[in-house]
Amino acid sequence: MSVQPILEVENVSQRFGNFVALNKVSVAFEPGRLTAIIGPNGAGKSTFFNVLSGAFPPSSGRVRFQGKDITGLAQHEFARIGIAKSFQITNVFKQLSAHENVRVAAQMRETRFQLLRPRASLRALIDKADALLERVGLAHLRDKTAADLAHGQQRALEIAMALASDPVLLLMDEPTAGMSPEETGVMMGLIRQLAAERTLVLVEHKMKLVMGLCERLIVLHHGEFLAEGSPEQIRNNVEVRRVYLGE
Ligand code: ADP
Ligand code: MG
Repeated sequence: MSVQPILEVENVSQRFGNFVALNKVSVAFEPGRLTAIIGPNGAGKSTFFNVLSGAFPPSSGRVRFQGKDITGLAQHEFARIGIAKSFQITNVFKQLSAHENVRVAAQMRETRFQLLRPRASLRALIDKADALLERVGLAHLRDKTAADLAHGQQRALEIAMALASDPVLLLMDEPTAGMSPEETGVMMGLIRQLAAERTLVLVEHKMKLVMGLCERLIVLHHGEFLAEGSPEQIRNNVEVRRVYLGE
């Protein structure tokens, strides 16, 4: 790799009791790129995602972000250093409106930074939330209660909330899970736009979906690194074809 990686995973293993969910996985991510982690069900994708996003520290191995060791860093520190994530399961405040959800997320960021600079005015937070809703295509649903939004819209809302921390790196676990084909199309368009602005790492089960979207794919299988490369290389990789056909 010619440029300094933004994120490096070195020899990461994750054990649950005797079960090895990840076995010595090493991967480096280049800044500004859209990379997808793919693999059949049970491959260890979500476990890998949880390690990257700090949900739990790995059993062994290191994770470095912008050259700094962040292994075991507390969950709430991740947003502060510039890493945000959206989960496989939708995670919004159901009783709040779309706008209130994003405002809360923006407010949380300000609270984190308030020792460093004056608190943002309420007006600034309102405007930021509106800009983010616009960004993810939800401006027209601003005052709708999150519970009343369609599934795809809730996922988009969650992304707006993740963006409220102005992340350098955005991690997404199966952003199109449970979506209709139409919702999937909208989400892929949004991901494409976001990828133009920042580093994005996507975990995705559906290989076809990411082929047209990502510059680089990493394949996990049974908790092990299986392959990496361009969509073209991955499409033609005999082992990758075998594990996907064998599902
Ligand atoms: P994927 O997201 O690729 O489908 P996961 O990372 O969710 O795979 O799971 C990988 C393997 O680890 C699976 O066999 C799963 O049952 C196991 N696993 C995941 N989380 C836990 C856990 N908290 N405790 C025990 N086993 C787990
Ligand atoms: Mg998963």
